[in-house]
Amino acid sequence: MAQKSSEYWEKRIAASTWKTYNSLEEKNRELLEFYVDASEQIKKELYLIAEKYSKEGVLSLSEMHKKNRLTALNKKFENIIEDLGHKTEKSTKKNMQDGFKAVYKNTAVSMGDENFSMPNKKLMEKLLNEPWRGDSFSGRLWKNQKKLAVGLNDLLLTGLQQGKTATEIAVSLHNFMGQGFNECHRLVRTETMHYLNGATKQRYKDAGVEYAQIWAAEDERTCEQCSKYHERIYPIDKCPNVPFHPNCRCTIIPVTDEKLIIGHDKKNDIEKAIEKKGDSDIINPSIAKAGTGVAVIRSLGKIKENIITKEFGQIQTDEIIVTEEREEHIKERHPEDFELFEKYGGKTVSDPDYIIRDGKHEGTVFMVMKLPNTNLNVVVRVALESDRSGLKNSVMTFYRIRERNLKKLIEKSTALLGKDAVLYKKE
Ligand SMILES: [Zn+2]
Repeated sequence: MAQKSSEYWEKRIAASTWKTYNSLEEKNRELLEFYVDASEQIKKELYLIAEKYSKEGVLSLSEMHKKNRLTALNKKFENIIEDLGHKTEKSTKKNMQDGFKAVYKNTAVSMGDENFSMPNKKLMEKLLNEPWRGDSFSGRLWKNQKKLAVGLNDLLLTGLQQGKTATEIAVSLHNFMGQGFNECHRLVRTETMHYLNGATKQRYKDAGVEYAQIWAAEDERTCEQCSKYHERIYPIDKCPNVPFHPNCRCTIIPVTDEKLIIGHDKKNDIEKAIEKKGDSDIINPSIAKAGTGVAVIRSLGKIKENIITKEFGQIQTDEIIVTEEREEHIKERHPEDFELFEKYGGKTVSDPDYIIRDGKHEGTVFMVMKLPNTNLNVVVRVALESDRSGLKNSVMTFYRIRERNLKKLIEKSTALLGKDAVLYKKE
């Protein structure tokens, strides 16, 4: 393949992806119509009841409890939202798949492959339904719909309890639907960008491209998150998920310039050499990655700084982060624990029951939270003053640990350290 610069690919591939994205955004007007319709239906159902049973515009709760009227109305709201969800899902998925085809085609042609074949339907579906950063498009969409239905019924009940007029309740329901639309719209935009990027990535793989580069839209190069990734080069399979945040339009372009690839490999070798200095194969790559921004990171909480500095001396930051790569690791190695991590990971690091120093690995602590039948253990590598600068305290792994094994862990670390390994115990 011809050696072309990143700017060349930006003009031919990224710009076209953005164009497709914008044309899909036009189609999202339909989404707004769905929400307006549903909002009207909800108002209508409420007014139908109010016409019959309200006194001076107010529906009393006792009147609504008669003959299960409230339950019936709740059910109607739920059905309207479910129907809205189906319509939204169907329409947006179709638009996204049209976008996928357009982007895939443009990418192939831009790279000189006129005789490409489109990925089959099954693969396109698979990419559309694949979870990324914890959930799939449909998963997120239905979570939103559920939230919407529950929220509407909560508002209805509160309105009735507070003796609001039917009109006042209708206004609050309408406003809530507006919020619901905004959330849904944001979700669709983010998922669309992700899917279109998936189309380019798939084309690179199909064309045998080995390296890809993250390319931010020009107005995003000042964004703190995206600017860190702009121009970064990755082997195609290690390329992080883009977009990085809602409304982000970061894309992926192919790397065909040998000089760029050689530069990337050299930098990688240096990073690997730094990683090898450590004493653990699991721990050091991750902390290095968190610091160099190779992985997408998410903030988990603040470390109990006084306890940590008392043991380790100054640290670089009190922030604890977890990288996408580590989350994948937790999901893979401890699948049944991942949900617990999502639920309690933040609480465990911010407010642990124990902080124990790891006797085996440098700068590493176990943060333990007690649950009725088990304990949760978040293993955190602390970013010490003596580490390369710019690093953050990073979650290495997470798993459940039984009381007996926790005791053993403490004993072992205490023996290795030659002093009590428990740095903190909640009273
Ligand atoms: Zn971005």
